[in-house]
Amino acid sequence: SPVELHSFVGSTVDVLRTEAGKKQIDLQVSVPEQLYAEADEDRLRQIILNLVSNGINYTPDGGLVKVILEPMDMTDDGDYEKIRLIISDTGIGIPKADLPRIFERFYRVDKARSRSSGGTGLGLSIVKHLVDSHEGTIRVESEIGVGTRFIIEIPVVHEQ
Ligand code: ATP
Ligand code: MG
Repeated sequence: SPVELHSFVGSTVDVLRTEAGKKQIDLQVSVPEQLYAEADEDRLRQIILNLVSNGINYTPDGGLVKVILEPMDMTDDGDYEKIRLIISDTGIGIPKADLPRIFERFYRVDKARSRSSGGTGLGLSIVKHLVDSHEGTIRVESEIGVGTRFIIEIPVVHEQ
């Protein structure tokens, strides 16, 4: 049955509000209201939780983590076949040299620095696997000291 994406993304992100609050990180969500699609809730939830957790973990206190979900190429009839999910932060960024490797299992940029955050380096490899199994695409843009943005495009079934 179809998922109402505005409420779905909102309540998924709400799970991480306490975590964000501890660092005074502003967690913003933007999804059009009444947007329905036939989507795999478990996989979509895992993708969002992993990327937003990273955003919170790798962003200094007082920063911003933003989640945007939008239909792609919507026709005049209101039909669309893909959604785009953008998760961005104002965090520490990822060095250019590390970008090609961050989706590998157990890969972490700076083991000494990030050890305290307790991660295992599996999050992004799981996200990549979930996106691939949706026949979607994921790409990342990042600038040191400015922030990081993950852009995911996945097919969904939607007919108006
Ligand atoms: P886990 O997710 O398994 O708890 P993790 O967060 O270290 O651990 P990944 O989510 O796979 O592992 O991320 C891999 C590495 O990529 C991280 O260790 C971090 O160095 C870097 N990284 C991931 N997301 C961001 C981000 N939003 N900003 C800066 N660096 C990031
Ligand atoms: Mg992670």
